Amino acid sequence: MEKDVKSILSESGFGFKKRLGQNFITDKNLLASIVEKSGADENSTVIEIGCGAGTLTRAIAERVKRVVGFEVDLSLKPVLQRTLAGIDNAEIIFKDFLKADMNELEKRYGEFCVIANLPYYVTTPLITKILDEGKLCRSLTVMVQEEVALRLCAKENTPEYGAITAVIALRADAEIIKKVPRTMFTPRPNVDSAVVKLTVRDGRLPVTDAAFYKKTVHAAFAARRKTLVNNLVNAFSISRGQAEEVLASCGIDLKARGETLSPEKFSALSDGLLKILQSN
Ligand code: SAM
Repeated sequence: MEKDVKSILSESGFGFKKRLGQNFITDKNLLASIVEKSGADENSTVIEIGCGAGTLTRAIAERVKRVVGFEVDLSLKPVLQRTLAGIDNAEIIFKDFLKADMNELEKRYGEFCVIANLPYYVTTPLITKILDEGKLCRSLTVMVQEEVALRLCAKENTPEYGAITAVIALRADAEIIKKVPRTMFTPRPNVDSAVVKLTVRDGRLPVTDAAFYKKTVHAAFAARRKTLVNNLVNAFSISRGQAEEVLASCGIDLKARGETLSPEKFSALSDGLLKILQSN
């Protein structure tokens, strides 16, 4: 790269767009440690979502076989041409990743890992899209707001535990691998961040029907103040007796609330519910 990124951005007349979550990282040690902790190596294909000025893209490209980057902001094209000069294993697709066809990507690139400093406003839809549709995704290493990181990795019976935690647990182990203070970003956001690694482990929960597991989780968290029985009665139009019967068969307290159930208990509950619904 012929100049530092901040000069390239200002020479290109680039204006940061808050609505696209544009908070960039330039610290080389931080960038290197994110890639190293992701576990991606010289044999990996990495999908990066939101290349920004290409600092993370470059750090990834220097360590892996190939990077496929997505960036929705076309005004970053001239910036990326300069910041990625001399890098020949990075391909940038100027497109909203939420509209990307995962099947097509997997046909073209095969097995992949995701590394991204995610725009805060699409964090949950992006993670769920990849875990739902990415059959060949091996891991996601994502920088998110610290509060979101705590939610992604939460344990049952904590205020941070929610539907997204239990849905992720269906396919992946989640751990916080690094805390990143707000001072590391340009421009500086109002909150601190953390890097979370989601390691995909297919079959980590023994569920018969993954879509129904997610429906059960969302039903259980629909009204957090209500008991699980009430939420299930409302969501699945079953009788209170049937809801209590399935809870008892899974060894779940009849007065329990959704947030007390581990992903393993949710898995047993969803299979039990499915049986009752099929016999109705
Ligand atoms: N990777 C860069 C870094 O670490 O410095 C930039 C990270 S910045 C937090 C997020 C980037 O994602 C922005 O450049 C933004 O324009 C881009 N972006 C936002 N929504 C997107 C989407 N749906 N698809 C692809 N890129 C998106």
